[in-house]
Amino acid sequence: MDFLGLYLSIPFCRSKCTYCNFASGVFPAAWHERYVARLEEDLRAIRSHAKTWGATIPAAADSIYLGGGTPTLLAPALIRRLFTALRREFAVTPTAEITVECAPGQLDAPVLDALVESGVNRISFGVQSFIDSEARQTGRLHSRSVALEDIARVRSAGIRAVSVDLIAGLPGQTLDSWFESLAVLAGTGVDHASMYMLEVDDESRLGREVLLGGERYHAQQVPEDDQIAEMYAEAIGFLAGCGLAQYEISNFARPRCESQHNLKYWRRQPYLGFGLDAHAMLRGRKGAALRFATMDDLERYLAGPAWPEPPRALTREEELEESWFLGLRLNEGVSLAALREEFSPAALRDCLETVAELEADGLLQRFDTDRIALTSRGRLLSNEVFARFLAEPALA
Ligand code: SF4
Repeated sequence: MDFLGLYLSIPFCRSKCTYCNFASGVFPAAWHERYVARLEEDLRAIRSHAKTWGATIPAAADSIYLGGGTPTLLAPALIRRLFTALRREFAVTPTAEITVECAPGQLDAPVLDALVESGVNRISFGVQSFIDSEARQTGRLHSRSVALEDIARVRSAGIRAVSVDLIAGLPGQTLDSWFESLAVLAGTGVDHASMYMLEVDDESRLGREVLLGGERYHAQQVPEDDQIAEMYAEAIGFLAGCGLAQYEISNFARPRCESQHNLKYWRRQPYLGFGLDAHAMLRGRKGAALRFATMDDLERYLAGPAWPEPPRALTREEELEESWFLGLRLNEGVSLAALREEFSPAALRDCLETVAELEADGLLQRFDTDRIALTSRGRLLSNEVFARFLAEPALA
């Protein structure tokens, strides 16, 4: 039986980090209440939309994730309202994983109390670096000591599952300072870590400056690509040595502490996303995957319909492509037996040729007879690997 994942996007931030390419920003606090009211409206309305679209919403949800943004900037009363609305509209299993993202230094005591009362059992801290100068240069508002205190505070409040995010490739970062951040992370004993390589694109101020060759935001101090790749590769072994095994390109966990919510994305299980720039996937008639998303402009989102476009049913070809590029993100890889059940032999034939080529290039490996996964080199070049599956000819 499929369970549902529920994602709520809370796009409010106290300041905008230079590397951030999310649809979040510094908006007036007076908008918080309107935004929560809007979320409540959408939570109420989704069932009738799903009916119109012919989409199936699983009976119960086993994961909730509040991300953003900085959800803990909401007043405690607004946080309680959101969880009340979620539980009113959806049956949430008693063992559901309930995660809230948190920026260190931005978790007031009454907010933490509201999270605990609302059943939150996992916090994901966006630390990015435990080196104070690196955090400061990118606009983060915390120091190492504040981050460590906050991790201790949520644990003593009874929230035992804690994840820490780090970014490899921040301005001024060196291999030594990276190892220092990793060692501090290991010292916290957290059960989950996410590690991202800096994304240089024109969606962030730092990314744009790097692309332009400018000097603002310490862009000249961004490490070279091969240094960032070395940081990433070194971290995998380091974290494994601390009991945090890699289970996805950017994610590491102790046994049975993988993010159940995020696993849904890569395993193509159903989830609903509410709020600004939130994505969703449900199954429609005949089991086809239906994908849909909300707007990424806050004022338009507050004023307009949440889902301006009806969902798009993926073609069989797109479903197969997704099975590869999402499944290959996971260390467990893609099961050929499962693909054979879902897709026709003709559809798979071209993919298997691609798999053989990528195996020969040392980017994919086969294990347990029928599972295909990225190699270590394949993880560094994952976008190249995924593109090879997207380039498959149309299915018969
Ligand atoms: S990285 Fe997180 S805290 Fe920083 S601006 Fe982006 S969403 Fe806000």
